[in-house]
Amino acid sequence: MNEGRCVKCGSCLRACPVLNDPSGAQFPGPRTTGVDAPRFLEKGSVGQNALRCTMCHACEWACPSSISITRSMLELRSELTGERLPGHRRMLENIAAFGRTVSTEFSGWRESGERTLYFPGCIGLGRLTGLTASVSALLTSLGIAHDISREALCCGSPLLKIGARGEAEDLRRRNAEVFSRYDRVITSCPGCTYQLREVYGIEAEHIIEVLKGSDLCTKLEGRWALQVPCHLKRGLSPWTADDLAAILGKAGVDVVRMPGEDACCGGGGGMLSGFPGTASSLARNKMEMYRKADVEGVITACPFCSLNLGREGIRVLDIGEAIALKD
Ligand code: SF4
Ligand code: SF4
Repeated sequence: MNEGRCVKCGSCLRACPVLNDPSGAQFPGPRTTGVDAPRFLEKGSVGQNALRCTMCHACEWACPSSISITRSMLELRSELTGERLPGHRRMLENIAAFGRTVSTEFSGWRESGERTLYFPGCIGLGRLTGLTASVSALLTSLGIAHDISREALCCGSPLLKIGARGEAEDLRRRNAEVFSRYDRVITSCPGCTYQLREVYGIEAEHIIEVLKGSDLCTKLEGRWALQVPCHLKRGLSPWTADDLAAILGKAGVDVVRMPGEDACCGGGGGMLSGFPGTASSLARNKMEMYRKADVEGVITACPFCSLNLGREGIRVLDIGEAIALKD
């Protein structure tokens, strides 16, 4: 790790959405959890407060010394001892029972041995099945025959975030055989895409990468803002925010760009299950921004963003629900 390069400038602290929210008062901050604590023998003393972070990567982006802050924080999380948070315990119980972090409600499995796997992720299969059905229909309309396999389990990303490294590795081993049957993997969750690329070594594609260049249309009217997911822009590529806007704009959506569109919604990193109060507080901050802009709603490309922002009373659509192939 490269923590020794820290010049104590404080840029990461100013960039951190949790540290700058009243609900995040107990979070020690990115410099303590990602730079200082990992180097100390008594690093475990930060305790469960180290988990009060959404893994949004904003600190890392702000750091002039290019310190891999979030990687260090993941290491620290894997070494935490003590009782797990109730929400994180539930996730692990679900993984042990059926291989996903939440119970699966999706029923539209497609298992006919196609060469492309659409991998919706736990939230897409458990909480936002309409989103998953829309993305699947869009892929079909684009001529991409695909499976949605019940054998593909959680990618393990949420488990790494809560420090359950052994369980994440176990899932990777179990999934490896399933993924080996496919030539192409497409996801609608940037966290899954990131995990499949970084941990599995699979060149998974996020749906917006698939949609680029397609001839699309929309039925949406009025002005729509973007919720740019952290793991899309700061995880996969900085250009994905512009790609998202360009795909929607070309389809005919009146897209309103705003400076805070890429701020964290509060839903990732195990925050939604571990510290729901902070997850809600960050989502409310974003909602305030969107309401002031007087938009019809928000379009995003991440099930966690859809889920967390959707609870705050504004219309939130996934890109798969906002557009369709032109006739
Ligand atoms: S990843 Fe995001 S929430 Fe976590 S410490 Fe960095 S800026 Fe704060
Ligand atoms: S932004 Fe980077 S260099 Fe500055 S205090 Fe944070 S970790 Fe240290």
